Amino acid sequence: DNQRIVTPQIRGDEIDTTMRPQALDEFVGQAQARANLKIFIEAAKARGEALDHVLFVGPPGLGKTTLAQIMARELGVNFRATSGPVIAKAGDLAALLTNLEERDVLFIDEIHRLSPAVEEVLYPAMEDFQLDLIIGEGPAARSVKIDLAKFTLVAATTRLGLLTTPLRDRFGIPVRLEFYTVEELELIVNRGARILGIGMAPDGAREIAKRSRGTPRIAGRLLRRVRDFAVVAGKQAVDREVADRALSQLEVDGAGLDSLDRRYLTQIALNFGGGPVGIETIAAALSEPRDAIEEIVEPYLIQNGFLQRTPRGRLLTALAFRHLGLAVPQRPDV
Ligand code: ADP
Repeated sequence: DNQRIVTPQIRGDEIDTTMRPQALDEFVGQAQARANLKIFIEAAKARGEALDHVLFVGPPGLGKTTLAQIMARELGVNFRATSGPVIAKAGDLAALLTNLEERDVLFIDEIHRLSPAVEEVLYPAMEDFQLDLIIGEGPAARSVKIDLAKFTLVAATTRLGLLTTPLRDRFGIPVRLEFYTVEELELIVNRGARILGIGMAPDGAREIAKRSRGTPRIAGRLLRRVRDFAVVAGKQAVDREVADRALSQLEVDGAGLDSLDRRYLTQIALNFGGGPVGIETIAAALSEPRDAIEEIVEPYLIQNGFLQRTPRGRLLTALAFRHLGLAVPQRPDV
């Protein structure tokens, strides 16, 4: 079984795994990333060599883990997965690395959360396929080198800025994932509905896609929740009306913003005059971790023109005020 997961991970809904595309050609969207990966994979296979190390960067739920699994499958090698916070000690990583076979894919999610001591072990492993281990302590300590199989590290991060430069520089293939278009999400929703046996009207799929925050994982979640509403309403298929009713009930608004998004925008609008306001201040006012706000909330709001990041802090746009049904303040910078 080449899908063994080294570290059991809680990845949310089971829908995640049922809807997960299995091949590069089944993977919707991210056209440029996909085209590049296809070439690199074919070249590595033709040479019979391990693929260069790959770094996926992008918000949660865009398909980083899925692509890593697909790459292992297309390369015809084993897939081993773990994540930054789970690798507590250098020895944990060493154990993982020494168990890899030639050309295997080791996937490390949230690589920005590796401890410095573990990163030190990773550098020579990535570069020279060697482990430098210190055995013993004090005067009796000695260093040993262990040769590793030539593996491919596929890492994922939501926060490129938190990666140390030496670590970032060791990835030959950096890949940035983008939010999905409504059309792409529509394909994903329709595919998911087929897999899950949900009747789906075209305008139903479109409505879910429009409100999925550019994110396949969210599209999958909404799809499952909307199905429940359709069943209760006695409808054979999810149409726009059922989808709209369900999503409104779930507090997902017409732009796909959820209650946290709106709380974030409302806070800045009402308590900070639309900004600019610092991220720490916003995080404290919302009682949410700053990390979560920067990783999960802000990228989509920025991408969709609700928010600007300025040197003086976060600034709401006129679009955000209008979306909240508030008067747009007369300021030269909004
Ligand atoms: P990430 O690792 O970036 O957080 P995942 O790879 O876990 O994201 O993707 C979350 C879920 O979204 C997957 O389990 C899969 O069901 C779905 N998904 C992601 N990308 C796609 C895609 N391009 N096409 C179809 N489904 C996708």
